[in-house]
Amino acid sequence: MAIRISDIAAEEALLDVEAIRADFPILDLVRNGNPLVYLDNGATSQTPRCVMDAIEHYYAARNANVHRGVHYLSQAATHDFEEARKKAGRFIGTPLACEVIFTRGTTEAINLVAQSYGRTHVGAGDEVLISYMEHHSNIVPWQMLCEEKGAHLKVIPINDAGELDMDAFERLLNERTKIVAVTHVSNALGTITPIKEIIRIAHSAGVPVLLDGAQAIPHMPINVYELGCDFYAFSAHKMYGPTGMGVLYGKARLLDAMPPWQGGGDMIMSVTFEKTTYNTLPYKFEAGTPNIEGAIALGAAVDYLERLGMNAIAAHEHQLLTYATRALQEVPGLTIIGTAKEKAAVISFVLESAHPHDIGQLLDDAGIAVRAGHHCAQPVMQRFGIPATTRASLALYNTREEIDALVAALHNVNKVFG
Ligand code: PMP
Repeated sequence: MAIRISDIAAEEALLDVEAIRADFPILDLVRNGNPLVYLDNGATSQTPRCVMDAIEHYYAARNANVHRGVHYLSQAATHDFEEARKKAGRFIGTPLACEVIFTRGTTEAINLVAQSYGRTHVGAGDEVLISYMEHHSNIVPWQMLCEEKGAHLKVIPINDAGELDMDAFERLLNERTKIVAVTHVSNALGTITPIKEIIRIAHSAGVPVLLDGAQAIPHMPINVYELGCDFYAFSAHKMYGPTGMGVLYGKARLLDAMPPWQGGGDMIMSVTFEKTTYNTLPYKFEAGTPNIEGAIALGAAVDYLERLGMNAIAAHEHQLLTYATRALQEVPGLTIIGTAKEKAAVISFVLESAHPHDIGQLLDDAGIAVRAGHHCAQPVMQRFGIPATTRASLALYNTREEIDALVAALHNVNKVFG
C-alpha cells in the first residue's frame, strides 16, 4: 500500500508506549547514571521479550533440523518454521508462502536477485538503474554484476531535500534498462520514495522493480500486491526480530523462472553426478540448513507488530518525528540533512560546533545511543558535501522525553565545543 504516513497520522491511533517499553528489557539499562535512550533503531532495533521467548522455546522444545526428519521434533520444528514463513508473507501482503524466501537479511536478498535474476537478464551494454540514496547493499551487488557483464550502473539523482528527481528517473529509463532497484526509505535521510509512481513508470516500460525495504518495514504497513513490486527485501533485526534473518519477496512467476543461486542440501529434488534437478519454490533458493530459530523469532516479531498495529506505530512515530524535527531545529548551528516532504522517523543532522563522531561520543556519555558516520551510504554524503552525519532513528518505544534528552545533550555539545 503506498500509504502516506502523514495521512495515517491523522488517525487517532496511538500506542500505550509505557506498556510497550516494559516489553523490552534492554530499555531498563542505565548508562553512566543515565537511563538508556536508544535512538539507533535504523542500525538495529531492540528485541521484545516475546521474540526472546520464541527463541528459547525453539531450543527448549523444538530443536531439530527442518524438512528432513520423520521424528516428532523435526516435524514440530518444520511446522513452526513454515508457520513463520506464512506470517512473514501475511505481514507484507502475500498469501503465497512460495513467494517468501528466507535469507540472512536485506543484503543477502539483494545479492540473490543480482546473482540469479541479474546474471540471467543483464548483458553487455544493458543498464541497472538505482538511486543516489541507496545503502551500499543496494549499490555494490549491482556494481559487481555490471562489472562481470559489461553492463552500466545508472543513478537517479536526488534534490537538496533528499527527494528523488522523478523527471530524471523517466529520462534514465530506456530499452537497455533491465531492472530498477531503489530504496523504499532512505536510511541516511529518512526519505520515503514514491514507490507506487516508480513502479508504475518502470512497469510501463516493461522493467521490473526491486525495493529495498530494510528501513520501511518497521515503520509502515506494507502490501507488496498493492504496490505491485517484483521484489521486496527486508531484515528481521530492524523490525524487532533477530539478526542474521531476512526475507526476499518475489513474484512467483519471476522466482520460478530464475536459476538457483547457491547449491546444497534442501534446494534439490534429486542429485546424480550427471544431473541435479532443483526443488520447488521457495526451497530452490534456500540451500543448506536455514536459520530456523531466526525464522521462528521473525514470526514472533510479526505477531507482536500485528498486535500493536502498523497504522498505530506509523502514527506514533510520525508524531515523534514532527516533535523531534521542531525541537532539533531550535539547537543553534544544527542543520537537518534530508528534509523530504514524506519521511519516516529518521533524522540526520550536522552541527557546526562538532564532528558527528565527537557528538556521538558526548551523547553516549549521556546515555544516548545515536549513529555517527556515513551510514553505509557514502554517495549520499558526497551529494551533500559532508563526511558524515549524526543520525537519530526512532522506534515504536521512543518517547518525547527521550527527544528532550537528546536536545539537552546537543545543547551541551555546543557548550563543550562552542
Ligand atoms: N538497506 C538499507 C536501507 C539499510 O538501512 C540496511 C541496513 N542498515 C540494509 C539495506 C542492509 O541490511 P542488512 O545489514 O540487515 O542486510
